[in-house]
Amino acid sequence: METQQSIIKTPRRVDPAFSKEVKKRFGGETLTLCYQCGTCASSCPVAKITDRFNPRKLIKLTQLGARKEIISGEALWLCCSCYNCVERCPQGVEIADLIFTLRNIALEEGYIPTIYSEFIKALSKNGRLVEISRFMMKTREKYGLPELKPAGLDAIKRILESTTFDKVAEKVVEE
Ligand code: SF4
Ligand code: SF4
Repeated sequence: METQQSIIKTPRRVDPAFSKEVKKRFGGETLTLCYQCGTCASSCPVAKITDRFNPRKLIKLTQLGARKEIISGEALWLCCSCYNCVERCPQGVEIADLIFTLRNIALEEGYIPTIYSEFIKALSKNGRLVEISRFMMKTREKYGLPELKPAGLDAIKRILESTTFDKVAEKVVEE
């Protein structure tokens, strides 16, 4: 079980409507089923290596309405979406989906970690998350690998549009 079942202090600023808002959204429906057993935290590979992330605490803070603290914080971006917690939760809480819901709210309100905004910029501009560097080209040549062609931006654009991710990308690229 979770090794550090620490007490969660009531957040200083709470938004009582936050929990209802999350519950209404796709992925957030199971929020109030959580009874804080800690099985998710003890199954989580991220929580094992850092105390900056704990799914049980994230859920409790969401239930309490710590809106600002959650959406402007880094914790919700540390989940690696492995779904271990979902497999083991005795209450059927869709923890990973809940975290995606929180990320969507954060994105809509303009909170995004720099690393992701850089990825979005690179994807929109080059069709790749990582630009093809001269070093990369030379190394591929050395190992007899074929030359990397620039990605098809039209296809990327269509995917971004069909997922409405282009709206997020526009905001980030404008910054
Ligand atoms: S395992 Fe499920 S019920 Fe237990 S703390 Fe995590 S989300 Fe809540
Ligand atoms: S899905 Fe996220 S919260 Fe759940 S165990 Fe994996 S990393 Fe932890």
